[in-house]
Order: sequence, then C-alpha cells, then structure tokens
Amino acid sequence: MDYFLMSKELMKFDVIIVGGGPAGLFCAIHSAGEGKKVLILEKKTSCGRKLLITGSGQCNLTHEGGISEFLSHYNNTGRFLRPALMNFTNKDLVDFFVKLGVSFETDKNGKIFPSTKKASDILSVLLRECEVRGVSIRCGEPVLSVKNEETGFNIETTLAKYYSKNLVVSTGGASYPQTGSSGDGYKIAESLSQTVTEIAPALAPVYPSSYPFGSLSGISFNNARISLFRDNKKIADHTGDILLTHKGLSGPGILDFSRNILPVDVLKISFMTGMNPEEFRKDFTQKTDLGGTKLVRTILSEYPLPERFAREIIEISGISPDLTCAHLPKKERNVLIKSLTEYPFEVCEIGKFNEAMVTRGGVALEGINPKTMESKVVPGLYFVGEVLDIDGDTGGYNLQAAFSMGFLAAKTIISRL
Ligand SMILES: Cc1cc2nc3c(=O)[nH]c(=O)nc-3n(C[C@H](O)[C@H](O)[C@H](O)COP(=O)(O)OP(=O)(O)OC[C@H]3O[C@@H](n4cnc5c(N)ncnc54)[C@H](O)[C@@H]3O)c2cc1C
Repeated sequence: MDYFLMSKELMKFDVIIVGGGPAGLFCAIHSAGEGKKVLILEKKTSCGRKLLITGSGQCNLTHEGGISEFLSHYNNTGRFLRPALMNFTNKDLVDFFVKLGVSFETDKNGKIFPSTKKASDILSVLLRECEVRGVSIRCGEPVLSVKNEETGFNIETTLAKYYSKNLVVSTGGASYPQTGSSGDGYKIAESLSQTVTEIAPALAPVYPSSYPFGSLSGISFNNARISLFRDNKKIADHTGDILLTHKGLSGPGILDFSRNILPVDVLKISFMTGMNPEEFRKDFTQKTDLGGTKLVRTILSEYPLPERFAREIIEISGISPDLTCAHLPKKERNVLIKSLTEYPFEVCEIGKFNEAMVTRGGVALEGINPKTMESKVVPGLYFVGEVLDIDGDTGGYNLQAAFSMGFLAAKTIISRL
C-alpha cells in the first residue's frame, strides 16, 4: 500500500519542490540529507523528460570557458544570473558528475557532453543521488494549487495535500509541453502574487514564405553570416551555424537569433562562410573572367560549399549547369553572387512552443532575489530554472543556468532550516 495515499493527515515536509526537471532534481539533492524531509512532486509519470531529449538525446550539459563568459549568453539577464553562476560554475557542474562516475567530452564549438553521449546517464545520476540522499519523489502528481499560509504552504495535487515551510517552483517553461512543462508554474506564481511577463517561444526554427532548399535538408554551414532586415532597414547581424531543414532554417545560429526575429522580417544569409562577401565577389569575378571554357560550376566547386547546395544555387540563379565562364552574362553572375552572399528569406513564421527549445518570458526577475532565488514577495517561496524570465543561447547555457539556480536555492534553504 502506498504510504502517501493511505495517510489521512496532511503530509509535512521541510522542502517541497514542484517539478522534477534538472533545476528541481538538483535543488532536491542539495537541500536533502541530515534528516531533512524533501519531496519532489512531478506531474509526469517520470522525472526529467525534457532532460532526456536535450542535445538530441546526447545532453549538451554546459559550455567550456570561464564562467564570466557565460553572462552574455542570457539575453540581457546575465546580471540576474551572476550570483547563481558564480556560486555554482560550469566547472563545479562537471566536477559534480565526474565524482559520480560520468566522464565528459568537449566538441570543437566548446559544448560539453557526457562521453557516452547519453542524456539518460545524466538523469540516472540525478535520480540515484536523490535516492542516496533520501529525497521522496512522487511522480504522476501534478500540483493543482498552492496556498500561502502564515507559516508555510499548503499544496494540493491530484492525489493528496501537502504542507511545507519551503516551496520551490521548478516547473519549467511552456516549450515541448509533452515533456510536462506546459506553463503551470506561471499560474502558481500568479496565484502567489508574483508578476509573470509575456511568454513566447525562443530558440525556435524559422520558416520562410518561399523556401527552395527543402531537398537539401541536413546540409549545414558553419559560422554563416545572417543579417536581419525590418522595413527594408538592417537592424541586426549575427554569425552562427545554420542548418537547412525540410521546411526552413534551423541550427544554433538561427535558434539563438530567433528571439530577435518577427514574421515579415527578411533574413539575408551569406553561405560563403569564412569569406568576406566583397572578397568573394572580387575573387569569383576574377576567376570567371579568366575562366574561358571552364564551367561556372567547376569554378564554384573551388569554394568550400557543399556540392548539392552549389548545384541548387546555380539553378536557382537561372544559370544552366553546362554554362561556361565565357558565356556567363554579367547579370547572371551578379545574381549568383548575391544568392551566395545575401540570399533573402522572407520570414513567414517562427517555430511555436511545440518546437521551441526554451521559453522567453516567465516569472519576472524583479520579484526574485538573485542572491537566494527567493521571492521578494513571499518568504519561503523560491523559483528556479526555466519558469523564470530567463532564456539562454544554445550551447549548454540553459542547463547550466537550471543547475546553478537549483543549487543556489538549496544552499539558501539549508542555511535557514
Ligand atoms: C529539444 C530540446 C533540446 C534541448 N537541448 C538542450 C541542451 O542540449 N543543452 C541545454 O543547456 N539546454 C537544452 N534544452 C533546454 C533545457 O532542456 C531546459 O532549459 C531545461 O530542461 C530547463 O530545466 P527546468 O528544470 O527548469 O525545467 P524542465 O526540464 O522543463 O522540468 C520541469 C518539470 O516540471 C514538471 N511540472 C510542470 N508542471 C508541473 C506541475 N503542475 N506539477 C508538478 N510538476 C510539474 C514537468 O513535468 C517537468 O518534469 C533543450 C530543450 C529542448 C526542448
């Protein structure tokens, strides 16, 4: 028989954590032990569903480099995150898992993954640590409501009622709702008088209204230059890796930049990576001027472009695949150069919550003390992870933030228990 369900009394804990994702699990691990009663209430039938799909199942846990370099990767909220990140750094995070038997690899872009490339290995360690430290976990029990009493919180789930002096909300954002994070934390926050800012999908793919590269899905470009135009004016530039998909543009460069993009904007992309567009123009013009009977596509193959892409872009530019340099009119050459250095994509749609990696907006940072993660409005109430108005770039920055915030809240709670 289940003790929790048998008990007629209100079940009391020192700490209750709503949501068993990375932020909640980490907070539980670090606030448990020494006889403290810590409970995680998780809506889904198992914890860490989103963690399991991070980095395409490989889990990009964090990033290399000094922790102060992280601060510029959180869309102007680095200042808020500073205490959490400084208090529990990327090195601390890696060390935590290394001590528990996980080894890591860093890829060429500085992203850190478990060597096994299995997110499930990270989740297993977290769940094992919860068990070792005596954390109770109740899965399949969504929290329905929280009431703030003078001495603590009354928490009601679909199955039972609980009481705790300390309540940590780590319900995640609203992206990939099938993993459990469907925005419940915002309602809980509002019911406890916290302000919640408008939410929107972030780290999302971009869908152009006309997209001729569907057949090239899977081709990527490292460090491509992306320029953002609104009302015919350039408003921002970004450089990053781009991935062509069946229906649009993705890859870290697009995902990170997506928070700035609106439908009806125009993105101009240079596929000539590692080359200044003007340099390419001069070089290509000279080579085709001197090319004579050489085919235009032979000249193009001298540049670092995927072959299938080169063929497609020649066709899109209205140039016959058998055209020689001698027969290449100036106008067509200019079209080709433009297609390669500033291909225009009119943005029709940005990916919605079901395909955005994180959520922009959330529990307003003004209402939270960044040194403790405690609410400034309600003592004993903490918010950690993506439920807050924080969204990081791709590269391991979001998980690092979730773990660092979970750790900081736990540190504060145990110092007061
Ligand atoms: C496809 C994808 C790939 C990603 N890859 C990476 C990556 O490689 N590196 C990286 O740094 N970041 C990555 N992210 C982002 C990262 O996964 C999140 O930022 C991180 O999981 C946030 O952790 P969290 O604990 O705050 O929230 P979540 O992981 O969303 O966990 C919240 C938990 O709360 C539970 N919950 C919600 N409501 C309730 C309720 N009412 N009662 C009880 N429980 C509730 C949910 O079921 C869930 O288990 C990726 C995201 C996606 C979608």
